[in-house]
Amino acid sequence: MDVSEGMTEHAARARAQVAEGARRLYERRLVVATAGNVSVRVPDSNLLAITPSGVPYGGMTASDVALVRLPDGVQVDGAWAPSSELPLHRAIYAGRSDVFAIVHTHSRYATMLGITGRPLKPVHYAYGLLGDPVRTAPYVRYGTAALAEATLAALGTNGAVLLQNHGAVTVGGNLEGAFERAEMLEWLAELQIGAEALGPPLVLSEAEMAEARAALSGYGPEKRPGMTRAWHAGSGSWCR
Ligand SMILES: [Zn+2]
Repeated sequence: MDVSEGMTEHAARARAQVAEGARRLYERRLVVATAGNVSVRVPDSNLLAITPSGVPYGGMTASDVALVRLPDGVQVDGAWAPSSELPLHRAIYAGRSDVFAIVHTHSRYATMLGITGRPLKPVHYAYGLLGDPVRTAPYVRYGTAALAEATLAALGTNGAVLLQNHGAVTVGGNLEGAFERAEMLEWLAELQIGAEALGPPLVLSEAEMAEARAALSGYGPEKRPGMTRAWHAGSGSWCR
């Protein structure tokens, strides 16, 4: 195991966070069975902690979580093999030095948009927390390097991306930020689909979204006082 003394505490903490994240995915019904995955980059190291493949999420513990070395993806700790979407997580961490956590879901409404090829539209100003605009990565089989590449390309510098016929990926400077975006994405997708059933929704203009983004720029778990460290969790409201 190639983990130095100083890294051990950080790595243990990251694994505990991932286990908690897996339980949260399950409790909030953002995944079905063991689909979907969560990872956290271990600060000041070349390691990431990621949910294992095939372990029930409802009762996951830190020791179940796989510890993997970057960039080669060699597993250095954990009883179970890492998620089959490890290539996707590795690609995002390699391409986005600002990302410290990734949440991949098969959440119902976000996946419906990916199935129909319909984009997420700015039907609510909270869209500004996700990206500009939120794009959809083309379909590629799960677990492949090609999917990882397509996802990173469609994600760009945004906080969220839809995966055609698959699900969604959100990222953050900490796990709280990535989760908040996953839940926001799902809520916005549900709003849009529900509103479209009533009639064509009113979509915010570029100018309206630019103004909203400027107002939202100070918002987020990564921006709250005392949250400057990559993994400090927090909660708050984007509307107060
Ligand atoms: Zn998936």
